[in-house]
Amino acid sequence: MRLSAWFAPKRSLLLPINPVFERYSRQILFSNMGEEGQRKLLAASAVIVGCGAIGASAVAPRNVMELLDGFELLLDGTDNFETRFLLNDFAIQAGRPWIYAAAVGSYGLTFTVRPGTTACLACLLETPDAGALLEETCDTVGVLGPIVGLIASLEVAEALKILSGQPEALHGRLVSCDIWSGKMQSIGVARNPQCRACVGQEYSYLDGKSHPHITLCGRDSVQIHERRRSLDLAALGEKLSALGIMAKRNDFLLKFAISPYEMTVFGDGRAILKGSTDPAVARSLYARYIGA
Ligand SMILES: [Zn+2]
Repeated sequence: MRLSAWFAPKRSLLLPINPVFERYSRQILFSNMGEEGQRKLLAASAVIVGCGAIGASAVAPRNVMELLDGFELLLDGTDNFETRFLLNDFAIQAGRPWIYAAAVGSYGLTFTVRPGTTACLACLLETPDAGALLEETCDTVGVLGPIVGLIASLEVAEALKILSGQPEALHGRLVSCDIWSGKMQSIGVARNPQCRACVGQEYSYLDGKSHPHITLCGRDSVQIHERRRSLDLAALGEKLSALGIMAKRNDFLLKFAISPYEMTVFGDGRAILKGSTDPAVARSLYARYIGA
């Protein structure tokens, strides 16, 4: 009772705002947002791409235009880099901003891509030294709950600036945090003058050319032809073992089961998935356990 008596007069006396905005009264009080910013925010539209493994694997070159066209901002909620590169290609081609966000282990990072203004995901990650980042996934090394919340909050703060009509407030930096060690970084990222996407306008993920090529391979099996990489099968076996997945390995291949499937992975990046003929299942499992 005393609490409500304390808060009610304070709100009505100090903040004479439209009742429609009552719910957002504290955000409107923030001087950089104000009622005008909140009004723009309410009228804006954004889409979160990917809700876990299933949602992320349901975005693909064949339907990305239909699903994402018409939104002012795209937010990364995916769990694999194949989908993120597809999202990047779409955003660059459509001239639409998107916010990259990823977390694995105790580490996470986020970067806002503004086509024509900032670097893009391909500038950032299509480099020889980005390999380890692309191979670690929440399914192989796990993820600590608080880093997900922290990165999501940073992502949404950037989204608020765009959707409230204040792109000049974007910091334009790659922000990364390790919530276990307490290390935080904010660095500038330059555009790659040779970037295939934002400079060369080569949208290989959107065209479907950068998908791992998948073919039927006998009965109830598919083969993933991913030959661009050299896999450390011993390291992969250790990651799987930490998850309680027992893998058999020799110098040439590694085999493990994730019921009802069985996957055989080769040192050159190829894999055979037994138990399905669905390319989406194969891509999803490959991205989760082997990496993008
Ligand atoms: Zn680029």
